[in-house]
Amino acid sequence: MANENQGYCVKCKKSSEMTQAEQVTMKNGRKAMKGKCATCGTGMYKILGK
Ligand SMILES: [Zn+2]
Repeated sequence: MANENQGYCVKCKKSSEMTQAEQVTMKNGRKAMKGKCATCGTGMYKILGK
C-alpha cells in the first residue's frame, strides 16, 4: 500500500488510511481518490495533485 491511500478524515480529525480507495474525476475535471476511513468507515476524499 502506498501513501496515496492516506487521506484526511473529517470525523477522526486526522490523517488516516483510506480503504476501498478508487480514483474518481470530479465535475471540475480534477482527479481525486474516494474511499473510506480505515478507522471509522466515514467516506473520505483526497484531492490529487497534478
Ligand atoms: Zn475516520
